[in-house]
Amino acid sequence: MDTRQLSLLIVEDDNDHAELIQSMLERKAPGVYKSERATSASAGVELMNSKDFDVILLDLSLPDSGPENTLKTFTEAFPMIPVVVLTSLEDEKLAQHAIEWGAQDYLDKSTMRADIVMRAIQHSVDRKRIQTKLEQQNEELKNFAHTVAHEFKSPLQSILTAFCLIEESAGDSISAPLKKLVTLGVQSSERLSALVNDILAFAESDLTDATTETIDMDPLVREVVGSLQAVYDVEGTEFEIQSPLPSVRGARPQIRQVMHNLLANAVKYSPREGRKISVRAETRENFVVYEIEDNGIGISPENQKRIFEPFFRVHRQEEYPGTGIGLGFCKGIIERHGGDIWVESELGKGTKMSFSLPLES
Ligand code: ADP
Repeated sequence: MDTRQLSLLIVEDDNDHAELIQSMLERKAPGVYKSERATSASAGVELMNSKDFDVILLDLSLPDSGPENTLKTFTEAFPMIPVVVLTSLEDEKLAQHAIEWGAQDYLDKSTMRADIVMRAIQHSVDRKRIQTKLEQQNEELKNFAHTVAHEFKSPLQSILTAFCLIEESAGDSISAPLKKLVTLGVQSSERLSALVNDILAFAESDLTDATTETIDMDPLVREVVGSLQAVYDVEGTEFEIQSPLPSVRGARPQIRQVMHNLLANAVKYSPREGRKISVRAETRENFVVYEIEDNGIGISPENQKRIFEPFFRVHRQEEYPGTGIGLGFCKGIIERHGGDIWVESELGKGTKMSFSLPLES
């Protein structure tokens, strides 16, 4: 455990509460904590900018800012510093939201005890340290994947071109066994090429334009459905798209990518005859939930647990071509938007993929 003095910023407009925390910590652990106090969000930010703090204890009902704004002001401006939110008993729901918005922990003001406060502070510091380390490692892994995929791209293209040239220049004189080998070479390089492109897209997903905007989902879904015709045989497919679809806030290219992957899978994993695909959406509490449903081959319960893992595939390449990256990619995008993605499916009957995105506040 870290034994150096921890410096706390208490952002709390209620004098009694702030003093209670300061005095109970000093009594229980003299000299372990030093604290400063701000009575508004703006004063807290000013102090954060002028001094180094290890933890922020943050009241969410401040005079100059609403709960979500208050928290995001601190977590976005000082992403390395853990935040413990101070709530009241009746704010259990708010406390849960606070964790989703980036707080490390919360403390109920009505049952404040020194040991509980100390534990929350220590946990928040430990959690933040682990989270930061994981984020760094994740970033390094993504950079590594990006470099490797990038380095693979051009030699792979040369191999593919070479095979195509052999095939072309040999013409009819090529023997059947050799032709088989060349075809295998072309197919394998094309598959590797698709994989490299998907890894590149995955590694670059954090870098692509992440500016959030209000996305009108109606035209977006229709445009994606139209674009599927270029890749898949969708003739005769019955698309049932709810109208209007609720709009949502997000990074447009990323949300488009998710819609594209889910709709492409709905097409790919449904037999051409009698294929029906629907897109619906509804509001549930503070989220919009979008559902893409097909009447295709379905996914067994064991496989449903694994389909979001990168590279997990149920079928052989010859049955259904693919790389196994698409759903992992979607999961990353949706989670970065503060939402969730899940599957409901029955083998032989069809699949419903759903994802939620926070409602515009
Ligand atoms: P890919 O389609 O390239 O294999 P994905 O990550 O998009 O990769 O999907 C992972 C696996 O989940 C697929 O290989 C497939 O077995 C299964 N899957 C995804 N969507 C569906 C669907 N709509 N119906 C049936 N199976 C699906």
